[in-house]
Amino acid sequence: MLTAMGTARRIDALGRVVVPVEMRRMLGIDEGDLLDIHVEDARIVMARIEHRCVFCNSNDELRAYRDRLVCRNCVDALTAPA
Ligand SMILES: [Zn+2]
Repeated sequence: MLTAMGTARRIDALGRVVVPVEMRRMLGIDEGDLLDIHVEDARIVMARIEHRCVFCNSNDELRAYRDRLVCRNCVDALTAPA
């Protein structure tokens, strides 16, 4: 469970704000990741949109299964005869 942490950042003229590196590291947010941004109780909430395999973290040839993404290698491994 993550504990609450906060910091102050100034928003620029274009509406941009930098997400602190320590928060990105803690949450595994990498350059190029998509973030969902929405308003919740008058607060701006950002959350990483998962576009990675639930098993190996790859983002290669993903397929959806029950609202989760699985890469081709893991699908092949799961469906290979024992
Ligand atoms: Zn995988």
